[in-house]
Amino acid sequence: MALIVMKFGGTSMAGIERIRGVAARVKREIEAGNRVAVVVSAMAGETDRLVGFCREASPLADPAEYDVVVASGEQVTSGLLAIVLQSIGVPARSWLGWQLPVHTSDAHGKARIRDVGTDALLAAMNAGEVAVIPGFQGMAESGRVTTLGRGGSDTSAVAVAAALKADRCDIYTDVEGVFTTDPRIVPRARKLARITYEEMLELASVGAKVLQTRSVELAMKEKVRVQVLSSFTDAPGTLVVDEDEIVEQELIAGVAYDRNEAKVTIRGVPDKPGVVAAIFGPLADAGINVDMIVQNVANDGTTDVTFTVPRTELIRARSVLEANSATIGYAQLLTDDSVVKVSVVGVGMKSHAGVAVTMFRALADRGINVQAITTSEIKISVLIAEEYLELAVRVLHTAYGLDAAA
Ligand code: ASP
Ligand code: MG
Repeated sequence: MALIVMKFGGTSMAGIERIRGVAARVKREIEAGNRVAVVVSAMAGETDRLVGFCREASPLADPAEYDVVVASGEQVTSGLLAIVLQSIGVPARSWLGWQLPVHTSDAHGKARIRDVGTDALLAAMNAGEVAVIPGFQGMAESGRVTTLGRGGSDTSAVAVAAALKADRCDIYTDVEGVFTTDPRIVPRARKLARITYEEMLELASVGAKVLQTRSVELAMKEKVRVQVLSSFTDAPGTLVVDEDEIVEQELIAGVAYDRNEAKVTIRGVPDKPGVVAAIFGPLADAGINVDMIVQNVANDGTTDVTFTVPRTELIRARSVLEANSATIGYAQLLTDDSVVKVSVVGVGMKSHAGVAVTMFRALADRGINVQAITTSEIKISVLIAEEYLELAVRVLHTAYGLDAAA
């Protein structure tokens, strides 16, 4: 007999028919003899709708009242699931954030969970009742309702699983698990049976987001075994686990891409100490995140610096650099927003040489020019022209032996 936290996302909760499907899955776990707590999202689209009401009511809506409004989507689905479970003979009770309670910081709209009260939950589950918990919401020390930031119900589920020391946290979503790459680009992408927390975090940071990043960080810290699986099929999902739980490590877990990059090239800056600080200082002051950086070899006392910023920040970055052109002292400022970042991620890189060479060779063989590179211990990212995105993802997927058998 296991203690399981089951989490259902917005598409799984969108309408009473789907909620009946969710209830049937919960009933199966109960009939298998498990104790179950369920964490639910609002119906798909509902939180957007509620956020829209707040904006319409006032562009400067009080964040504490914003939370009262947007937390309501999950209150509705938790009550509905409890009703449907009861109607099929499964004792169930909802537990709102303030009732458990889920203690959070008082940063309304982006609160962080401090702890989750488990006394009522354990008593209910031990008495054979399913506990249904609305995700995304909590309670500040002041007693007011808080929410955790968009996508936060994944984090709620992991926090509940950690507090209950659950055997598993099953996150049911609209995809079947974590894939080696985007199946829309590579039809032979494979579903991974297992992936490490670290790889999940790196994949999310380069554009492949299945779970809220905070939930993966929390799962890693608390060693919660998370499984990502579909609520619409019975296929096994992907287990997110600690590195030492993976016996035979694949070199590369996946290939991801991010279209939200733009390239800035500053030509003819003086090659002397302090220049890089003069460029990146004002950008940092403006809150613009710089990602990849390349500085060319100097000739005749000047050099070129190339870097990327989020595409949505390109116009702002340009105006910050123009405003500081006198202190930086450059000859030319060029920008390009038709670039993408393609990354390969895998903990196997830590212990194998030659991983980067495989990437560069595969791209070179197809005539794809690499414009910038960044690496971490388990990730290599390259910046390429956007027109080569699909080709690059496909050749890298093949180069690292990730293609499913035909
Ligand atoms: N309903 C919230 C949102 O849409 C929380 C979640 O579903 O994770 O952001
Ligand atoms: Mg989500």
